[in-house]
Amino acid sequence: MNHPYMTREGGATVTIFVPYDCGNHCPFCINKEEYSCLDGFSAEKICESIRVMDGITPYCDFVFTGGEPFANLASLQMMLDQIPTTHKVYINTTFPVLKQHTAQDMLDFVAKNREKITCINVSRHLVKYVEESPDELLAEVSKLVRMRINCVLYKNYPAEDMVPYLERIRKLGLPVQFRFDYTDTTPENLYDEENDKILADLHKVADYMGLDGCRMRCGFHFMYKDLHITYHKTLPYSTIVEEVDGTTYDILYDILIKQTGELHSDWDGTKLDVEAYRNVVFEPYDLKDLVVVTPFHD
Ligand code: SF4
Repeated sequence: MNHPYMTREGGATVTIFVPYDCGNHCPFCINKEEYSCLDGFSAEKICESIRVMDGITPYCDFVFTGGEPFANLASLQMMLDQIPTTHKVYINTTFPVLKQHTAQDMLDFVAKNREKITCINVSRHLVKYVEESPDELLAEVSKLVRMRINCVLYKNYPAEDMVPYLERIRKLGLPVQFRFDYTDTTPENLYDEENDKILADLHKVADYMGLDGCRMRCGFHFMYKDLHITYHKTLPYSTIVEEVDGTTYDILYDILIKQTGELHSDWDGTKLDVEAYRNVVFEPYDLKDLVVVTPFHD
């Protein structure tokens, strides 16, 4: 059943699936299968949907994901060019150096778009699943734009590798976000601290600084020496049905622009009712500091 939409002030985050693949096969990837057949994929249709979302929520955040956003610089440029500077723009990437472009091409691209890109989130996992570009290149890029390292701690990850990994990332001077495999997150375990192995492993090597969170996601903050670590957990869906002031709403956290340009309101294929979203009701963002042991700052 569809309810009227509610979302946070500024609008739900719009996640854009680029219309080209990454060439990798990370074991936790839930997007991979969608790239097995590229029929109907269209950068032009994606651009149309970006313009629609900009028209409805001119201050929402956009996130590029994939696939691999940096695998086709011309197409990424075209999509980026649709987004006015009222928006924050995040790019999730492995930051690969591929046959089709050199490290210098990547640097030039980032330099050209540095005013448009809010942050590049680069995956560097404890276990290597992909061909990584050199850390020296990431260090160069981080002089141009904000960067963060994302690291999925998947199943039986090697906890003994955590300290060497943190030492490596510390040399880059970039914050790191450890991520729970979100296909396993439930409302019951989202804030569970007692049975969370990752939290227990982090407490052994780093100093706990505090917790922030909302209905949908949370972040446990730690410091390892001078390195800011966030341990991020999020629910595997993006709509929460809730009654507010006597009306039941679909509260949207993420809207997706699929590879075909189709707009979805959740990760399970639910289409966004665009006309209904034009009348979305806004609520204050419910992300709050829940526990502050010591103030932390990126
Ligand atoms: S690089 Fe990203 S999109 Fe590609 S397989 Fe790994 S997680 Fe999936």
